[in-house]
Amino acid sequence: MNGLSYLRNVVTLQLDREKCVACGTCEDVCPHDVFASMDGKSTICNSDACMECGACALNCAPGAIMVDSGVGCAAAVINAALGRSDACCCTE
Ligand code: SF4
Ligand code: SF4
Repeated sequence: MNGLSYLRNVVTLQLDREKCVACGTCEDVCPHDVFASMDGKSTICNSDACMECGACALNCAPGAIMVDSGVGCAAAVINAALGRSDACCCTE
């Protein structure tokens, strides 16, 4: 899904590289290729592509990744698919 991006500079995603143990899991689970390896650890290479699904933080054993999952576009897409009237939290 390279090339896809959302609003610029609004994503809540953060990475504490001091805690990273270079397992590579975040790169494996991220559907938008937000992470890449650099200098032996993971780094955020394309934060604007993040849809805040939370998969990376959920699967990072040492807790190096923080993201407010369920508040971004992913939540809106899922809510809309379920027919919920409050599909997008941005309109509240
Ligand atoms: S999942 Fe966590 S520990 Fe593993 S490479 Fe990514 S940031 Fe580092
Ligand atoms: S929250 Fe989802 S889209 Fe964003 S970096 Fe993590 S796995 Fe990728």
